[in-house]
Amino acid sequence: MRILLLFLMAEFSIVSSALTSEKPFAFKDTPGKLPKEVVPTDYFIRIIPDIDKLTFAGTETVKLDVASRVRQLVLNALELKIETASVDGKDLPASAIKTDTRNELLTLALPSELASGEHTLTLRFAGKINEQGQGLFYMRYQEQGSGARKIMLGTQFEATDARRFFPCWDEPVFRARFQLTVVVPENWLAVSNMPIESEKKIAGGKEVRFAATPPMSSYLNVFVAGELDFIESRSGPTQLRVIATKGKAEMGRYALEATAQILQYYNDYFGVAYPLPKLDQIAIPGGFGGAMENWGGITYYESKLLFDPKSSSAETKQDIYEVLAHEMAHQWFGDLVTMAWWDNLWLNEGFASWMGSKCTAHFNPQWEVWLRREFPRDPSRRVGIAREAAMEGDARSTTHPIQQPVATEAEANSAFDDITYKKGQSFLRMLESFLGEDVFRKGIRRYMAAHRYSNTTTADLWKALSEASGKPVGEIAAGWTEQPGFPVVKVKREQGGNVSLSQERFTVNFTNAPPLEWKIPLTYAVVGQAPAALLLTGKSGNIHDIPPDRALKLNVNGAGNYRVEYDQPSWKLLLGALKNLGVADRVNLLSDAWALVQADRAPIALYFELVEKLPASTELAEREQIIHVLDFINTLLSGSPEHEKFQRYARSLLRPAFDAVGWETKPDEQPATTNLRASLITALGNLNDSEIVQDCRQRFKAYLTNPETLAPDLRPAVFSVVGRYADESTWNELHQLGLKTTSIEEKQHYYDALAAAIDPKLVTKTLPIGLTDELPTSRAVFLVLRVARESGHPDIAWDFARANMKALLAKTDALGANRYAPSLFTFFTDESRAEELRTYAKNSMPAASAPEVAKAVDEIQFRAEFKKRLAPQLGAWVDTETRRAPQITDH
Ligand SMILES: [Zn+2]
Repeated sequence: MRILLLFLMAEFSIVSSALTSEKPFAFKDTPGKLPKEVVPTDYFIRIIPDIDKLTFAGTETVKLDVASRVRQLVLNALELKIETASVDGKDLPASAIKTDTRNELLTLALPSELASGEHTLTLRFAGKINEQGQGLFYMRYQEQGSGARKIMLGTQFEATDARRFFPCWDEPVFRARFQLTVVVPENWLAVSNMPIESEKKIAGGKEVRFAATPPMSSYLNVFVAGELDFIESRSGPTQLRVIATKGKAEMGRYALEATAQILQYYNDYFGVAYPLPKLDQIAIPGGFGGAMENWGGITYYESKLLFDPKSSSAETKQDIYEVLAHEMAHQWFGDLVTMAWWDNLWLNEGFASWMGSKCTAHFNPQWEVWLRREFPRDPSRRVGIAREAAMEGDARSTTHPIQQPVATEAEANSAFDDITYKKGQSFLRMLESFLGEDVFRKGIRRYMAAHRYSNTTTADLWKALSEASGKPVGEIAAGWTEQPGFPVVKVKREQGGNVSLSQERFTVNFTNAPPLEWKIPLTYAVVGQAPAALLLTGKSGNIHDIPPDRALKLNVNGAGNYRVEYDQPSWKLLLGALKNLGVADRVNLLSDAWALVQADRAPIALYFELVEKLPASTELAEREQIIHVLDFINTLLSGSPEHEKFQRYARSLLRPAFDAVGWETKPDEQPATTNLRASLITALGNLNDSEIVQDCRQRFKAYLTNPETLAPDLRPAVFSVVGRYADESTWNELHQLGLKTTSIEEKQHYYDALAAAIDPKLVTKTLPIGLTDELPTSRAVFLVLRVARESGHPDIAWDFARANMKALLAKTDALGANRYAPSLFTFFTDESRAEELRTYAKNSMPAASAPEVAKAVDEIQFRAEFKKRLAPQLGAWVDTETRRAPQITDH
């Protein structure tokens, strides 16, 4: 049996290698700038920060394994002053030390050839503590309770910023053990990847030495220090802690409990137990926006980790769980097994996104994880599903394959995009549902066991999954990971129960797209019957024996990463069978219909006819899909003659759901209903529902005298509606609340509300806040982006940003810099803005921003074209509807 299986496996690997270009991991073939003859095995690093000067002094000793004779050592360093260098105890002259800032390299010329074998490099260096979240950075914050202004330190190294903290072989394939020693003030807590090994008092503070890490990539190092508190628990042999600034640790209780639950799940799923003695979840009140999976010491933007049952919303709670599950999945997939090079970043991020959602859905089925989060509400958010956002991007001319060549540091940083995270996640979900849950897990266990403490390419994962499933996974996957885009499957009813299927590339605003083909793991079901699967391997195929009078639904539960376009008879049958479809299938039909409209494959009537035929419901995911579309059109039509008429129609679609859920929370209410209530309030407020606006104002007033009158779940929605239609005194009230609170989450809600104000006078009052330190640095710049999106005045936001670009960019991290200006343009619908952005980019932006600029230009052109096409279609549709249903009332 075993031999037979091996034989089969060999056959499959021959087939897949013929069709996929990528090879399994081999150290010597891994891309990168650094020569592979010299490999660091152990780092001993000592860092002394100077908080007053915002600089640090460092020394390090690195054990090297030299494979063949070399005349120089080449490693990475950036913005570090190298003071001395010695090899095997012999000092190098200053002339032998060369730093190349452009290539971020440090080259040490050796006096004589270094023989193969073990050697030691010692360096003394100095660096700076940054304001933005790159390398070692500082954060200023208000302490809980006292409100005192404090400072703390943190690090952010992915993708290529460990080299700002200490000189190192800063490419993921150079795994090594790292032992860090730091000197910090005596009343500070210092945290790193491993537990503290020793601590002693010295002049000016204390010296803390951490235990050495297992072999890992340099970007996974972490160091955080400040006046911190923690709460702790244990899970088997693992110490678990949530660490936060003084006075806030108790708000980590929810995260601590979730951590224990998730850890157990992953220990089982991966079949390899979490390998470090401790896992710290660290809340940082600024500096960077999301979360970072440093091995054993995960860092989070504070409101992604801390939950205050008295004031946090249900959305925050769900976000926290999902982010935790994503970052913890990385402890295996990313940290224990690491992609060899940044061209396989998707392997880390697509997988962690998929695994995180799977785990979140497993423990919290009531949150509808796979159905919701299809539509990103917060542009700064990188985890979550938002599959639709990825598909929208992937349909454009500016898309790229999941796996793309990465040559420079800038390219590595811009690889962190929707395609990498969300298409990756979406493809893995499709693959899992095709192979089956158990088989898929068997493959993952095999992969973990084979590659722990090492690096991989995508080919290694496909090999493990092929072995576990006996299916040619690499062959199926190649089309999805190595080429851009995705297909639409066209469904046509023929005589005698035959249904013909054909595929073509699905595109939006992309004429003459190169035609491509995929191997599509299709699922389908005659409505009311069990689903079936089919691998569509060519341009077309057939399904037989489908009763001509029964509705046929493809892409069961919307788990596949493709669109479906039905012919008239099939669509009619589906519209008649809507009440027998589950919510996942209905959401999938809505999403596909909307995409077909965007692609100019169907008029808007296709979408709105479907919406109107849906049975009345308060299904969260379904209503949110509709809200997403109405919101998009509302922004698109802003300022046009059809706007008001559209708003009236849109309100008539949403109002019944709101009237059903009402303002008041019912006892034993499902969390989905709570979420829906908040979404509807925001949406109807944006659509100028006068009754909702009035109610929001009243509730806000009551909140000012007694905060307990307004449920935490509704606060962001109510604040944003009040902010949108604010006058100057209301704006001031919101601003005062924002200044006063020490909760990062609450603060964000108030400033989001300020950013929504549509009065141009207030817009010009909000924007300059982005330059102050009222908000954490990483969030301050997003305030301008939020104004561009929410206020209806992207022009004022852009004028402000252009005039203050230098100060704004000083606050963003490496990921944000290339995206900032282009993202501000994506809310324009006037084609002349595309040209303006091109010119601006040519004169004022680095070459590395080109892909982001191209995406924004495409978005402006798409919106301009779509607006022109949509306005008359919408006018006609709404007129017909008004005639047909005169009872549409003005709310
Ligand atoms: Zn991640």
